[in-house]
Amino acid sequence: MGAICDDPAARPLNARFGAAALAGALRTVLAEARAQLALDPRAVPSVAGLLDAAEARLADGARDTLFPVINATGVVIHTNLGRAPLAVEAVAAMQAAMGYGNLEINLETGRRASRHDHLDGLIAEITGAEAGLAVNNCAGAVLLALAALAAGTPVIVSRGELVEIGGGFRVPDVVAQSGSALVEVGATNRTHLRDYEQALRDHPDARVILRTHPSNFRMTGFTSAPALDTLAHFAHAHGLLLVEDLGGGALIDLSPYGIADEPMVQASLQAGADLVLFSGDKLLGGPQAGIAAGRRDLVDRLARHPLARALRLDKLSLAALVATLRLYRPPADPTRRVPVLRMLTEPAQVVAARAQALGVLIAGLPMLEAQTVETQGYAGGGAMPMHALPSRATALRSARFGAEDLARRLRTGATHVLGRIERDVVLLDLRTVADAELPLLAEAIRDAS
Ligand SMILES: *Cc1c(COP(=O)(O)O)cnc(C)c1O
Repeated sequence: MGAICDDPAARPLNARFGAAALAGALRTVLAEARAQLALDPRAVPSVAGLLDAAEARLADGARDTLFPVINATGVVIHTNLGRAPLAVEAVAAMQAAMGYGNLEINLETGRRASRHDHLDGLIAEITGAEAGLAVNNCAGAVLLALAALAAGTPVIVSRGELVEIGGGFRVPDVVAQSGSALVEVGATNRTHLRDYEQALRDHPDARVILRTHPSNFRMTGFTSAPALDTLAHFAHAHGLLLVEDLGGGALIDLSPYGIADEPMVQASLQAGADLVLFSGDKLLGGPQAGIAAGRRDLVDRLARHPLARALRLDKLSLAALVATLRLYRPPADPTRRVPVLRMLTEPAQVVAARAQALGVLIAGLPMLEAQTVETQGYAGGGAMPMHALPSRATALRSARFGAEDLARRLRTGATHVLGRIERDVVLLDLRTVADAELPLLAEAIRDAS
């Protein structure tokens, strides 16, 4: 893109709209040209053609509002920045799915089929469940599960799990919206099996016990709750279903990387949960989606419920989710292929080397002092919020701009960079920056400083 901006033919546009606006328009135009080229290898664009297209965008005032950004906040699963960046395999799958596809057609018989067929076997294979399906997001999956399995009956939930996850997802509200009635048991810090027993005596028509992972909330000290297998045993002995809302949805064991308190989907199913619900774009590292994995008859009931139609996953997210889940099948190593897992598991020395590389790229910029510092990143995304990841940041101090000003200039330049401010210094955390982004990041720092 630099070559086009520097082309003599770009000079009038540069003078008229400014370098940043021109670069922004060219980025979009180039993305469109690449997509066109993927469809038709003969559609090679000319520099003049690209500049014309950029001028048309700029002149008609078509200002975009949605931009790619470089995430230098150090928060890996950053909900406000779109949570999980997708693996290249998922991006390719979305591109391939953009036109017509056999979303709901069986190619053998030519007859109508279900979009759930593409995911069912894959979710089962990876989680060890009998069956699985996905809807638009995890909040939707919880709503659907309760509506399909518990509408019109009491749902038993521990008082310690009546949490708000963020973004307005409150467990009591979702239970109410599903048409079931909340039965609270235990105390905020302690819930015992006998509390569940009492609730069942008071509400013999209950069908479901809901267990919720408190995600971005932790209680410490004098606390207790029955182990999941104990609760499952109790539920099954009384003809109840145990549904667990896990939220984060770890499919690999993250404890070797120091992330010890994130329950795995497979472990919940093994402990006896009948249905487990989790997000596609948190620890799984895929597109926005809500996945339900568990007993075949229960998954079928979810799929048949009218809400499943209202909450269904679109073909692009479906394609991306299938491609992401495939990265969890051996011999693929998801910590290498899935960006969220790569960022969560990367050793601090590798992050430090990236900070060094950035330091070299921006060395000698006038009026700017840059230094590599030790810092802490976070998993984020309602998962393990308190869990700090040892990280490295490039600390920027400008002789011309204060920290607030510099941070704003980084956010609003031709490449949008988000960092954080600590003690009047702008920190760019390199844990959440990809190696491939370093040249662009260096250019953005140069422009902003
Ligand atoms: C994040 C989370 C949700 C909501 O998931 P979305 O995919 O954002 O809808 C629900 N339950 C738990 C426990 C969560 O952590």
